[in-house]
Amino acid sequence: MRRYPLYVFDLDGTLYRGDEPIPHAAETVRRLAAEGSAVRYFTNNSGQTREFFTRKLLSMGFPCEPHMVHSTATGLAALCRERGVDRVFCVGEPGLVRTLRESGVEVANADRRHRVWPLGEADTVVVGICRTFSYALLDAALQCLLRGARFWATNTDATYPLEEGRLEPGAGSLVAAVATCAGRQPDLVVGKPSPLIVGQILREAGVPPEDALLVGDRPETDLECGRTLGCPTCLVLTGVTSHPPEGQPFCEDLRGLLAKG
Ligand SMILES: [Mg+2]
Repeated sequence: MRRYPLYVFDLDGTLYRGDEPIPHAAETVRRLAAEGSAVRYFTNNSGQTREFFTRKLLSMGFPCEPHMVHSTATGLAALCRERGVDRVFCVGEPGLVRTLRESGVEVANADRRHRVWPLGEADTVVVGICRTFSYALLDAALQCLLRGARFWATNTDATYPLEEGRLEPGAGSLVAAVATCAGRQPDLVVGKPSPLIVGQILREAGVPPEDALLVGDRPETDLECGRTLGCPTCLVLTGVTSHPPEGQPFCEDLRGLLAKG
């Protein structure tokens, strides 16, 4: 397989499963980086900060610095800067609140520990995974939307997988609750399969789409998010997909990226 100037890796199912690194993944990514390719990581997770993922990836032996990590939290923060949004109402985890605040976005309904409460209002409502979700928080978000606020979602994944096949409700289930009472769908979803964050990654890295290989375990999200931009893609069979769709380039595990020819 040819070497690409930039590799964009999905995390769960591609580099690790929960807290277990996937065999051969770390040494493959280290080798690509050592041979001069740029590496970026992209997750739909909005609940943690860049620093959290950096520590996790480093502890598993992957090369990582905070700027290499892109999540739907960092994507949302970048979008706020691009669109001049400086205050939001947030349905989300402390990691999302913190990421927004660190990029200069005021969160109308969060306390000093970055926890969200059903208080305050803003012209933009952002919705992501939120383990403290409540009827009161839903009501407060609805009131903002009824006054005409924008509605931005981190991602619409119905569930997300943990170790041993356990599924937990994903951000999409909370986005659906907000959408149902507001009677409207999000104006914008930043996570995969939207191409928005891959576009941000390419611009920041200064790499054209054809020189960036997207690598992931879900064709319909990890790979779709770059296809419309013209990025080549590679499916790995270490996660949720065991049969590649017809015509989809794939490898059994990440070592396939180093294969000659
Ligand atoms: Mg995955």
